[in-house]
Amino acid sequence: MYGAGDVRIENVPDPKIIEPTDAVIRVSRACVCGSDLWPYQKMERSDRGRVMGHEAIGVVEDVGADVRMIKRGDFVIMPFAFSDGTCAFCHDGLQTSCLHGGFFGSTEVAGAQAEAVRIPLADGTLFPVRAHADDALMPSLLTLSDVMGTGHHAAVIARVTPGKSVAVVGDGAVGLCGVIAAKRLGAEQIIILGRHADRIALAKDFGATDVVSERGDAAVERVRELTRDEGVHSVLECVGLEQAMHTAISIARPGGAVGRVGVPQEQTIPGSEPAFYNNVMVGGGVAPVRAYIKELLPDILEGTIQPGRVFDRNVGLDGVPDGYRAMNDRESIKVMVTP
Ligand SMILES: [Zn+2]
Repeated sequence: MYGAGDVRIENVPDPKIIEPTDAVIRVSRACVCGSDLWPYQKMERSDRGRVMGHEAIGVVEDVGADVRMIKRGDFVIMPFAFSDGTCAFCHDGLQTSCLHGGFFGSTEVAGAQAEAVRIPLADGTLFPVRAHADDALMPSLLTLSDVMGTGHHAAVIARVTPGKSVAVVGDGAVGLCGVIAAKRLGAEQIIILGRHADRIALAKDFGATDVVSERGDAAVERVRELTRDEGVHSVLECVGLEQAMHTAISIARPGGAVGRVGVPQEQTIPGSEPAFYNNVMVGGGVAPVRAYIKELLPDILEGTIQPGRVFDRNVGLDGVPDGYRAMNDRESIKVMVTP
């Protein structure tokens, strides 16, 4: 990406082992993220460009001399953040705060919308899938690198437990995975706030019990009607815009919780006053998806959950620029890339 709206497919030098803790993977599947759309809309023009993409599954091609757990030929999930797996924060299950970690597709580390990627700290970062996984499972496995783990994080932070009422703000891929996560954790009522027919249909398939397509005050009022005027126990904020967060806080019942995973586009969190007077806990942040793979993977291998259904378009590398456009125009929910 060279700037807003400017995505090109170009040949770059092959990734190779630089540090002895590195691996190189050949990408089996990658995808375009809703969060890639923020730079797609706003990125300042750059001469060097940025190699985009932070979600991938692939096969290990090469490992450095100090890599112990990961072997050549392993089929692996690449979480969007790399991490050493050994520091205090990794031990806490917060690999996104790793003292030696960072993010793929950033200005420092090249991204995964490519044929191959260099993986720093391979032992801590990559999650090998030792079970047999056929082609049909690839899309769902790919979601463990970000969106399914992120939706799950929102649900965990929002304290979803059996019998709870849940609202999901945002009907993008993360919001849809949030519906799956809420259902999986036993929520009884799941209200999706969104307005795109294709996404809402999928949300219902995933377990949403109610749909609210209004916005702002009208949305708040509608959620109150659906919850005996109480509000919901748990809100999953999966957008990141001011209005979405304000809505999220306003529909939480007193004592409820908001799990925020939408990348914030503002410096401040709105809704401070209703959050205060209703004792609404607001938490969350960038999701440590590496920590959740172990828990979510069996459900995917068994077919209990099918988050891969969020992909409604599959392109080769040449199709990536148009994939960004299609997602940005809300023509596509999420675009998978098969290099
Ligand atoms: Zn660490």
